[in-house]
Amino acid sequence: MNLFGRKKSFRGGVHPPGKKEFSRAAPIEILPPPDKVMLATLQNVGQPCQPIVKPRQRVVYGEKIGEGKAFVSASLHTPIAGVVQRMKTMTFPNGRHLPVMIVKAEGKQVDGEELVSEILGGEWPKDCMRLYEPMYIHDAISDAGIVGLGGAAFPTHIKITHESKQPINTLIINGCECEPYLTSDDRLMMDAPGPIISGTLLAARALGVKKMIIGVEDNKPRAIKALRKEAADTEIRIIALKTKYPQGSEKQLIGALTGKEILPGKLPGDVGVAINNVGTIAAVARAVARGKPLTHRVISVTGEGIVQPKNILTPIGVSVKTLIDFCGGLKPDAARVIAGGPMMGFAFTDLNTPVTKGTSGITVLTENEVRKEQETGCLRCGRCVDACPMHLVPTKLALASRYKALQVAEDYNIRACFECGSCAFICPAQIPLVQLIRSGKMYLAAKDRKAA
Ligand code: SF4
Ligand code: SF4
Repeated sequence: MNLFGRKKSFRGGVHPPGKKEFSRAAPIEILPPPDKVMLATLQNVGQPCQPIVKPRQRVVYGEKIGEGKAFVSASLHTPIAGVVQRMKTMTFPNGRHLPVMIVKAEGKQVDGEELVSEILGGEWPKDCMRLYEPMYIHDAISDAGIVGLGGAAFPTHIKITHESKQPINTLIINGCECEPYLTSDDRLMMDAPGPIISGTLLAARALGVKKMIIGVEDNKPRAIKALRKEAADTEIRIIALKTKYPQGSEKQLIGALTGKEILPGKLPGDVGVAINNVGTIAAVARAVARGKPLTHRVISVTGEGIVQPKNILTPIGVSVKTLIDFCGGLKPDAARVIAGGPMMGFAFTDLNTPVTKGTSGITVLTENEVRKEQETGCLRCGRCVDACPMHLVPTKLALASRYKALQVAEDYNIRACFECGSCAFICPAQIPLVQLIRSGKMYLAAKDRKAA
């Protein structure tokens, strides 16, 4: 709460229908071991990993198959036992064509209760000051190939390090999950608060910080209750935030919880903050306390167009189709399958595409939901300006992008736009503001590359 008794939040933003009811009540289920996994060599921000196995080589569950050699890179591990196949190139929803390592299942697989107790269940350490040295925690995170599971996919060992260049004084764990439909983080907080609290204490130990906050939107009361109970004997504060989109974006969450503003071009570390998602921090606990790499994650498969929405503990690298089939398939009026949620997600063009470490959800929209009204001229209503959490002028940015007026776009700070979609959601004229701004940013990136 702030001084006026209001829940903490940020300026701007929108209130899209939450639609969490489709999958929120579904406890985490385990996907049976698939017959193969397809693992892209680039599943993180930065450089791809380098394959370290050859076709026809046998691999065991959790074995490292790709080495993250570059500074901003992450290693890759197989979630199933099997035999390595020839690599192939696949196209992902963000339009990138990436080499993919394929492992065909063979031999005994880790499954069912064994998998649940390894990833979510059992006792998790809290006496982290005594049990672990900062360097050990950092190295375990790096060896495990952990990246940001909230969707950003930034390698976690770069953020959680005892060698940070900036002094870090606050650790924030992001449990907002503000995208409509998605409930995987909500379920993780409800069903497995243990690894989240343990991972938070481990990350704080590695960073040398005492101030730990987990921020959760107030539309997740059961998650807040479960975390508070688990954190009762620790210094971690669980803070309920106003439900508003995009409350879970880094800059907005840091601003709401600390009052600190991150200026364009700056990072959380510049204001003394390290921030990680709840799923990421649970993976940190698993890596440090149990010595296990990132091989699985929880994904929501949800939406009006799916027969039985679920939250699924799934091996990374299974196809979208496998997950949809596990949920009973698509409804007849399903029209679009999205990686992530409807505000910031990208549509899949091929359901044989595999999920990656950064896939937080699969949302299936119906024909009714994707039908668009006709675009009209700008009404100069200013709603997009009020909604923009970055204090930008979306209508100007979109216009400049439409006519490739790149200098104007730069003058209006187009690079600060993180494509949250709030402006397009609120626009009564149905102007595709985000798509236009995204194209403007792509023109600028091309110009930068040419100049380099
Ligand atoms: S201009 Fe960018 S940051 Fe601002 S509301 Fe639109 S998409 Fe979001
Ligand atoms: S919300 Fe749409 S109609 Fe209103 S000012 Fe922005 S672009 Fe124009």
